[in-house]
Amino acid sequence: MKYCCNDLKYHLEHQCEIHDSVFDCCDHLFFYNRVYDEYGVILHDGGSSYVVIRFCPFCGHEFPKSKREEYFNLIYNELKITSLNDLPEEFKTDEWWKKRGL
Ligand SMILES: [Zn+2]
Ligand SMILES: [Zn+2]
Repeated sequence: MKYCCNDLKYHLEHQCEIHDSVFDCCDHLFFYNRVYDEYGVILHDGGSSYVVIRFCPFCGHEFPKSKREEYFNLIYNELKITSLNDLPEEFKTDEWWKKRGL
């Protein structure tokens, strides 16, 4: 994983000894979703919500555009997946967009 700056790296690689999930940890502010290739600020609302950010808050680097649209387009329109239980393994990680060169 490459980061635009050490500040972001520090925050994304932060690990907590108390909380298993980064969404439960108030010290954990940022989240990288590798499935959609998007970065977000964690809302800490008790769930796993985050607000997608387009620029690094530390250095101003522009992140790649989220692949969320392509993702749902592929699984619903091309693969015709109706149940998430049928989701191929590659769509649970960043494999689907890496192997398509997106
Ligand atoms: Zn940065
Ligand atoms: Zn914590």
